[in-house]
Amino acid sequence: MTETATGNTIGIVGGGPAGIMCALCASQNIENNILIFDKNIILNTLLPTGGGRCNLAYAEFNFKELAKFYPRGEKFLYSVFSKFSTRNTVDFFNRIGINTYIQEDLRIFPETNSSKDVKNALLKQLDKKKNIKKTFAKVLSVKKLQNGFELTTDKGKHFVNKLVIATGGKGNGHNLAKSLGHHITELKPSLSAMITREKEFETLSGISLKNIFAQVFFENKKLKLPSNAAAGDFLFTHNGISGPLIYKISSYCAYINFDKNNPLKIVLNPVGQEYKEFDSLLILKLKNNAQKDILNIVSCFVPKNLAAAILQKENIKHDIKAGQLSKKDRENIAKNLTSLTFNAIATVKGEEIVTAGGVDLKEVDSKTMESKIVENLYFCGEILDIDGLTGGFNLQNCWSTGYIAGLAAGNVL
Ligand SMILES: Cc1cc2nc3c(=O)[nH]c(=O)nc-3n(C[C@H](O)[C@H](O)[C@H](O)COP(=O)(O)OP(=O)(O)OC[C@H]3O[C@@H](n4cnc5c(N)ncnc54)[C@H](O)[C@@H]3O)c2cc1C
Repeated sequence: MTETATGNTIGIVGGGPAGIMCALCASQNIENNILIFDKNIILNTLLPTGGGRCNLAYAEFNFKELAKFYPRGEKFLYSVFSKFSTRNTVDFFNRIGINTYIQEDLRIFPETNSSKDVKNALLKQLDKKKNIKKTFAKVLSVKKLQNGFELTTDKGKHFVNKLVIATGGKGNGHNLAKSLGHHITELKPSLSAMITREKEFETLSGISLKNIFAQVFFENKKLKLPSNAAAGDFLFTHNGISGPLIYKISSYCAYINFDKNNPLKIVLNPVGQEYKEFDSLLILKLKNNAQKDILNIVSCFVPKNLAAAILQKENIKHDIKAGQLSKKDRENIAKNLTSLTFNAIATVKGEEIVTAGGVDLKEVDSKTMESKIVENLYFCGEILDIDGLTGGFNLQNCWSTGYIAGLAAGNVL
């Protein structure tokens, strides 16, 4: 069945955060009929965000500074964020009944710490709008017609005057965009845990190191990472490494093709001191505690399990007395504590938080989110070649680009 469009019918493919923000904004013009198509339950992608707490924004209120947290999309976002940024996001959620708070690390959450509450507040707004209709269907293909688009879904055909593609980083939205003539930049996982070659730390799964520094090397060259990417919390996993620090590194290294032959070398500094400086400190510590087991000494600097794993790796007995440690063993301990090295051979497949790459930004007008190739076609959210670090940046991209696409497609003044 093909529906006939009346007035300005806007089809939105994807009822995630970007598509829903777009629908709510476009609905302000009551001349618009808005059809949201989703193959799943609308806004369910919000539920796991922020570990169920929904980290919906980041408390950086200067839009140029905010854009710096996006390894892809920074310049494009200047214009986007100049219209709708952190302050607007917080105001918007306050208006729809979601009060927010800023955590110590500047991440912004709903006061109830519940992504379900955020989802329900948005759904309540949708339900109030008489000109929004939700359709539970998967859009299989799109065809450009003279005055609009024909959508073929698994439940039938629909005609719309304007089309917004908001299908996120996964799914077939990229193919829909491609079929309309858009170029999709290479898609890569980002914000992912990594699998490492090292096996000696497998038993440490779940142990974390707080706010430590890292250096990253590829093919014997040190990579230049922005200062905000080189420090953060770190987590051991059963087959490698994870945590905010590793997510950031995975984001900045998303396009580096590392593997078991060419690993990404990540060197952590758990004690935050240069080797020489730390070695001197260690010499003193060993001297002053000559009768103590070496395990207890190393455990003063890192969690006991990690201390034990380092000693095992270096074939040093745990109960050897500090005063009897050889120079070579001491140097090896100091080396591990100042440059604990991991060779990452892959990212953990399917568990990435976002997709890097997407609709080429050169083909999208940042003032309207309209395609520069196809009139009346718009994009918003993660389908674009925009992705940020962890901290609320990816949802901010959805709120901001969804807002702009909604106003533009909906002719909302
Ligand atoms: C575990 C996890 C935690 C996260 N936590 C945070 C966080 O705390 N803060 C943050 O900023 N970001 C977070 N993110 C990232 C954030 O959730 C995404 O960037 C965001 O959801 C992208 O929104 P979107 O609307 O662009 O796409 P999505 O949320 O992916 O929504 C796309 C929608 O389109 C639908 N769809 C796709 N193809 C079709 C089709 N052909 N026909 C019909 N429907 C279709 C899908 O069913 C889906 O509902 C997290 C991601 C994950 C995976």
